[in-house]
Amino acid sequence: MGGGLIGMLSAHELALAGMQVTLLERGRAGQESSWAGGGILSPLYPWRYPDAVTELAQWGQARYRALAESLHEQSGIDPEWQQSGLLMLDVAEQAEATAWAERYGTTLEVLAGSAIQHCEPAVGGHHGAALWMPEVAQIRNPRLLAALRNVLEQLGVVFEEQVEVLALQHQGGRISGVETSQGRYRAGRVVIASGAWSRKLLDDPRYLVAVEPVRGQMLLYKGAPGLLKAIVMSGGHYAIPRRDGHILVGSTLEYVGFDKSTTQAAADALRQVAEQLVPALADVEVVRHWAGLRPGSAAGIPYIGKHPEIDGLYVNTGHFRNGVVLGPASARLLADLLLGRASEFDSSLYAIER
Ligand SMILES: Cc1cc2nc3c(=O)[nH]c(=O)nc-3n(C[C@H](O)[C@H](O)[C@H](O)COP(=O)(O)OP(=O)(O)OC[C@H]3O[C@@H](n4cnc5c(N)ncnc54)[C@H](O)[C@@H]3O)c2cc1C
Repeated sequence: MGGGLIGMLSAHELALAGMQVTLLERGRAGQESSWAGGGILSPLYPWRYPDAVTELAQWGQARYRALAESLHEQSGIDPEWQQSGLLMLDVAEQAEATAWAERYGTTLEVLAGSAIQHCEPAVGGHHGAALWMPEVAQIRNPRLLAALRNVLEQLGVVFEEQVEVLALQHQGGRISGVETSQGRYRAGRVVIASGAWSRKLLDDPRYLVAVEPVRGQMLLYKGAPGLLKAIVMSGGHYAIPRRDGHILVGSTLEYVGFDKSTTQAAADALRQVAEQLVPALADVEVVRHWAGLRPGSAAGIPYIGKHPEIDGLYVNTGHFRNGVVLGPASARLLADLLLGRASEFDSSLYAIER
């Protein structure tokens, strides 16, 4: 249930293992948070996250390039994986960041003065120390989703769109299917991957997944290719350069329920951020402004696993700000649990009843 990146990556793992998969999507697949996101393949300020998030992120980071190449080859659509590096300006937590990088074997350099402009000439001057993570990559979400959908269809995954799941059907502690806006679907296994909306379907107060919508707004600039090379960020905001010169600037973090509208206040604030980060953006046109609803969860730890009381019911949701980078590992763990395979992840960290 849910045709976002998490539903699609889960379907991919299950289809590759020989399962017959149908994706039920309320609207059109790949149009919600997964479309709206930035595609940075790393948590922002990664040392601030718990190990449960880092473990999934690192697994995906090691495999994303190969995944993107394989999807490109099979679908003809290039998801534009590229290792742009992540430059974090004005970060005071150098000791924590350096210790984290050593622990996880990740390259992280502390830069100061002219070394910052040398690393990324497009940033303005007068920054304090910066942290540079050269291995951080990015992907272009809409292209990733299009490539993945193409490959899923080749694998025989059925996309049922404009089908809203209204209720789960279970009897005697075993799932039998779902009730939808288009009638009943029978299934021996059901996976809830409905992003910010996942909570609505689990109405047992004992096992509610604590997932809530968190709005993020983005601005898209159309610059010349090469204007900015690295992903740069400061104060929680970032600018991401795409290959063709588009630059995404984001994002806001707003607790406003299921309201996906954009606001002038956010556009103004993001413009200001953009011009502070990359002064040349003052003369570049904004071509688009949008919002998406992240599936927010405590500490950003997703819920991946079996329902404790209903056999055959699984969840894969709550990836908050990091669903793109966490997605491949989450899908692998979900498939391991659903298929009864040994897993290299500690599933207790992500369990519904954790
Ligand atoms: C502005 C912004 C920037 C981001 N930047 C990054 C980033 O740089 N890196 C990163 O890793 N992550 C980023 N994220 C987070 C990432 O996009 C999300 O964590 C991820 O996309 C969640 O995927 P999902 O499939 O769970 O949710 P979604 O993509 O929202 O998909 C859920 C799907 O379920 C469907 N659905 C809901 N209810 C039902 C129902 N009852 N029946 C049928 N279908 C249903 C919805 O229509 C939707 O298509 C960002 C998010 C935003 C909003």
